[in-house]
Amino acid sequence: MLNDRHALITGAGSGIGAAIALALAQAGCRLTLAGRSQGKLQAQAERLREQLPDLAVVLAPMDVTDPHAVHAAVQQAQARLGSVHILVNNAGQAHSQPFAKTDAAQWQQMLNVNLTGTFHCIQAVLPGMLEAAQTGTPGRILNIASTAGLKGYAYVSAYVAAKHGVVGLTKALALELARKGVTVNAICPGYTETDIVREAVHNIVAKTGKSENQARQALAASNPQQRLVQPLEVAQSVLWLCAAGSDAINGQAIAIDGGELAG
Ligand code: NAP
Repeated sequence: MLNDRHALITGAGSGIGAAIALALAQAGCRLTLAGRSQGKLQAQAERLREQLPDLAVVLAPMDVTDPHAVHAAVQQAQARLGSVHILVNNAGQAHSQPFAKTDAAQWQQMLNVNLTGTFHCIQAVLPGMLEAAQTGTPGRILNIASTAGLKGYAYVSAYVAAKHGVVGLTKALALELARKGVTVNAICPGYTETDIVREAVHNIVAKTGKSENQARQALAASNPQQRLVQPLEVAQSVLWLCAAGSDAINGQAIAIDGGELAG
């Protein structure tokens, strides 16, 4: 289905990014797996190769907040696998802190990783993506934002601000690239069963004395389906937006949240 495509996924060593990498590999993409931890990326590449022994996969250890590292990693990936046709900006961090206790460094860290990291990665892949689009291979930029990009949550103001920024960037860039063969969309998951949520559960347990089960239920309660979203469900939406026939979907922020934002 996506046999001629090169997909670069940031934060590909765990959680949602790992599920997206698997889905795109199964659809036939060549993959570049990016993230800070070489060990996590290596383990993910091995898991993928167990299922898909012929998979072309490049590891790109990099911190998305460092533009030089991002540009160098993208250049190396392109030298091995050609221009990037699908960029999934998934790397992210979510630190919770009451606003009054949030210092400027913590604020900046959330903006750097979630928003500016997305900017650096798009800047690095876009020239090659546009060139490929001119010769007929469509480009896809998928920004993994969050329901926190579309509504507020208490005690994560910096994360919410950063993810709203990701949604804004998505809309503006979608308009700018609309006639150039590249679509830009944001995926906005609700609470999803990954390390980020496991950390949130530990925080709730530590700060409120709730049991782990009660803490998980408190997070799941925001979802009208009363459950956590699964990484595979987020990955399916990425696959759909990359598939043939999705060219008219542009500048959208699509919630994968069991209906949370409908209420
Ligand atoms: P996760 O398992 O913690 O994944 C985050 C990934 O980002 C990790 O693989 C991490 O790898 C990478 N990363 C973090 N900082 C980075 C940096 N500075 N440079 C490069 N890579 C970095 O959590 P996840 O839930 O799958 O999160 C994936 C995305 O989904 C995030 O953008 C998150 O905000 C978003 N999201 C999650 C939820 C949820 O409830 N889980 C809901 C909505 C949105 P390294 O540590 O190796 O760098």
